[in-house]
Amino acid sequence: MPQVPALIATERVIPGPQTSAMAGYVQFLPLKALWLGVHGILGAIGVLWFMQLDAILVFVVLTAVTICCGHSVGMHRLLIHRSFRTFRGVEYVLVWLGTLVGMAGPMGMIQAHDMRDWHQRQTECPAHAAHAAGFWKDAYWQLCCAFRLDHPPTFMIEARVSEDQVFRFIERTWMLQQLPLAIGLFMLGGWAFVLWGVSLRIFVSLVGHWMVGHFAHRSGAQGWYVSGVAVQGYNLPRLGWVTFGENWHGNHHAFPHSARLGVEPGQADPGFWFIKGLVASGLAWDIALPDTQPPRDGLVRKAATSS
Ligand SMILES: [Zn+2]
Ligand SMILES: [Zn+2]
Repeated sequence: MPQVPALIATERVIPGPQTSAMAGYVQFLPLKALWLGVHGILGAIGVLWFMQLDAILVFVVLTAVTICCGHSVGMHRLLIHRSFRTFRGVEYVLVWLGTLVGMAGPMGMIQAHDMRDWHQRQTECPAHAAHAAGFWKDAYWQLCCAFRLDHPPTFMIEARVSEDQVFRFIERTWMLQQLPLAIGLFMLGGWAFVLWGVSLRIFVSLVGHWMVGHFAHRSGAQGWYVSGVAVQGYNLPRLGWVTFGENWHGNHHAFPHSARLGVEPGQADPGFWFIKGLVASGLAWDIALPDTQPPRDGLVRKAATSS
């Protein structure tokens, strides 16, 4: 039999003797596609029928708050990577804001992130988890499908999340979490606010998130290189202000535990500025930075990238 390299385990992903990281298939998910499609259509109606300044402002502010404080800081840097500490109540608010992005609930986000990360750390990675398909095919795969392994590894979410009643409730009802926001927006500004502040925002957030993931795993600038893994992360310069720091994805692969993503001089990282604001207000502490943990295996310094 050919020698198959042993699969790496990560914090939440434990391969068994049967596990293959490659044998699997891309499965079309009708509800995921419908969710995106309906919000895309409703968002387009909002743009065509209600082109008004106050609705545009609602879209911009809500997108910024949910992506920056919710998705990037609450879901990604806090819930998934535990890169800083805060009060439970603050974590609930940030994770709820992240759920409002319309991607998944807390457990769904952890699973999607950590399974992709686990795949990318092996010596071979399926095209779906590597974003290796072309632009349109990858869009279809990531926005309308999921990758299913024939023999998946054990996936374990820590009890502080999986047994928490608030996180469990948000997980069960993550799509419905838009309702209170939609009702509030309707009372404030009618259908214009709902279409811009919920549907268009969800559509733009999902497509934008996919595009950052697509380009950040294909080519570009890197301050560091991780040898011995199937997939590299790359920085996407000049996108710091619209991705709230998530564009520094090469840095994130180099220092996954770090609360700061724009780690080099001149790298705009609004998500980290928000965390610093929480620290200044006494709401966050114990911030992890690149040098608070030993470097990950295979980390090699390349050149600095800025702006
Ligand atoms: Zn990545
Ligand atoms: Zn991450």
